[in-house]
Amino acid sequence: MQTVKSSGKIPPLDLVREYEEIGPAIQTRVDRVLRSGQFILGKEVEEFEKRFAQFYGAKFSVGVASGSDALLLPLLEMGIQPGDEVMTTAWTFIATAGAILRVGAVPRFVDIEHSSFTINVDLLEKVLTPKTRAIMPVHIYGHPADMSRVMVFARKHQLTVIEDCAQALGAQWGEKRVGTFGEFGAFSFYPTKNLGAYGDAGAIVTNDEKFAKKLRELRTHGAERGYLYEDKIGINSRLDEIQAAVLNVKLDRLSRWNDARISAAAYYTERLGRFNLPNLILPSEKSGAYHVYHLYTIRTKDRDKLADFLNKRGIAAGIYYPLPIHRQKAFLKLGFGEISLPETERAAREVLSLPLFPQILREEQDSVIDAVGDYFKR
Ligand SMILES: *Cc1c(COP(=O)(O)O)cnc(C)c1O
Repeated sequence: MQTVKSSGKIPPLDLVREYEEIGPAIQTRVDRVLRSGQFILGKEVEEFEKRFAQFYGAKFSVGVASGSDALLLPLLEMGIQPGDEVMTTAWTFIATAGAILRVGAVPRFVDIEHSSFTINVDLLEKVLTPKTRAIMPVHIYGHPADMSRVMVFARKHQLTVIEDCAQALGAQWGEKRVGTFGEFGAFSFYPTKNLGAYGDAGAIVTNDEKFAKKLRELRTHGAERGYLYEDKIGINSRLDEIQAAVLNVKLDRLSRWNDARISAAAYYTERLGRFNLPNLILPSEKSGAYHVYHLYTIRTKDRDKLADFLNKRGIAAGIYYPLPIHRQKAFLKLGFGEISLPETERAAREVLSLPLFPQILREEQDSVIDAVGDYFKR
């Protein structure tokens, strides 16, 4: 693994290094798919669904075409429709709110906590209305939302819980992996996620056999069996065999890769912490959270200048996200201009993600750490 030499530039992540580790295993599996002549919903998908559910300690998993569809299909399945409201955060990738709009429902944004960037459970009551049908907590950056308290609230008000686990593959709240608290856990295998395919892919986990069966129908346009449609009309959203083959190879390594992320994150935190900078807040983990560091996100009031400084040194520091969803023009047009989410808006001004991926070298991290130190010591 140490064959990689640092080029001086430090990327946000490096999937080529990852491929050097798993190339032969991928080629064997993908070749087998190509020779089988079966490309949609075959043995690789079946195997992946079984193993992914096992990994999660869930009864079922259903492979779909993307993480976005993994959020959309449960909403379709639950019959969420115009006139309904779904609670979520505006501090997420657009897909979370997009899925809610796609079914004609209204996203009701709840502000986030300062420390974890996840949904602030204390604010749920204020956003709840008689029209609220579901809640979609987002386990952002790899840090889980407080699922114990989300579930208490959801059960009390009979809300369906769809967890957005796109950035939190393998994360846990307490002893349980995220995605298994609510009715549905939605996962993305977009290439840059902790478990990435070589294209678009996603999955939904659920413990309910009826839901699993319905989701399988909905991903094939709603067909109960060959070209017969008796209930809801769905969409085309299948996980394909080649992506499933890639995921079958990578799933075995997910825990090890997550461990490598966690250890790289700990190294940043330890070394950056030594600078003792009042204007630099490092990621923290709430008690009960098992954080899988999809992103290592710091915050500082000097964000824009620090980002410039790092990028000039060849360090790819990223901003997730520069503009929260409720402030996007497309949402202003929908009348979201009135709402105020102070912590979400503050996060958009202060966050910066440092390069972090399982194969990152210590010397690369040292360069990042030195650069951050140099910036603040100027
Ligand atoms: C990546 C992501 C999604 C969407 O997943 P795709 O596979 O890209 O469709 C949804 N929510 C969050 C929080 C994400 O990071």
